[in-house]
Amino acid sequence: MQLYNKLSAKEREALIDEAGEDRLTLSFYAYAKIGNPHLFRNHLFIAWDQMDVLGRIYVAHEGINAQLSVPAKRFEEFKKFIDNIYFLEGVRLNIAIEHDAKAFLKLKVKVRDKIVADGLNDSTFDVTNKGVHVDALKFNDLISDPNTVLVDMRNHYESEIGHFQGAIKPDVDTFRDSLPIIENDLKEHKEDKNLVMYCTGGIRCEKASAYYKHKGFKNVYQLEGGIIEYARQVEKQKLENKFIGKNFVFDHRRAEQISEEVIANCHQCGKACDTHVNCANEACHLLFIQCEECAEKMNNCCSTDCMEIAALPYEEQKALRKGKGNSNKIFKKGRSEVLKYKS
Ligand SMILES: [Zn+2]
Ligand SMILES: [Zn+2]
Repeated sequence: MQLYNKLSAKEREALIDEAGEDRLTLSFYAYAKIGNPHLFRNHLFIAWDQMDVLGRIYVAHEGINAQLSVPAKRFEEFKKFIDNIYFLEGVRLNIAIEHDAKAFLKLKVKVRDKIVADGLNDSTFDVTNKGVHVDALKFNDLISDPNTVLVDMRNHYESEIGHFQGAIKPDVDTFRDSLPIIENDLKEHKEDKNLVMYCTGGIRCEKASAYYKHKGFKNVYQLEGGIIEYARQVEKQKLENKFIGKNFVFDHRRAEQISEEVIANCHQCGKACDTHVNCANEACHLLFIQCEECAEKMNNCCSTDCMEIAALPYEEQKALRKGKGNSNKIFKKGRSEVLKYKS
């Protein structure tokens, strides 16, 4: 029985091209009590591998967090499979508004301690005592209330390219870092203001809202389904769109265009741009914003140092990296002194 990927990303890409089929990009999450995450993981891998599902899925004792690409013609089969798992029956599938057949090139189902690295000790508070879930219409209403504090629960590189008007955007690298900062900033308003929060697909707010209620905030709300679902509802119900820019997503598309405005700058020349790239030097892999001209001039690198390394033969690059840890694990969160225009 095959429990892991056998194809490389390149081989998979060729297969997708060959098939020429539409694929849907979607995500979902659920908090649940999973007794044996390893067994559950294998169950998912076997079924989804057969359905030609690709993506990145985290399974933990506390639940599942999945970003996927599913062949459009197998969607019904996929949905049926999901609905047969008791804690996933009827789960909201966040279906992307823009699709890319190559959003994912592998099926990776990983067992983790938690489905989101929140750094919280869950046994110290009631994680099921969540904030009020609101849809796009109610959310628009709430955030135009002067008594509301709107908080972006994402990281700096996400909110940099797109966010809701008037949101507080903590300058953090991780979700874990944002929790105490927000609490401290808002400690005067635990009772008199509405605390409204949002994230990409809703999963981060799911626990953060319970955490803030535990910390004494009285009126806690969260955008149900996050920005992804908000964009869908705004389009479908012809609501006013209060999100400006792009929604950063965690697949090869990197972002979904939600409004026309470009609110970020190329980190190298400063001109308006909101395209994230990773530095072409594999040992660096820095995530940053780069315009097309700079990409050409810098050979897709973040610095002249990286340009020199990236220009070396592959074997030499590998030798340089040796002993410096696994380059795949290097995912610098968009900060570096070489980026002149990174705010
Ligand atoms: Zn530039
Ligand atoms: Zn670099």
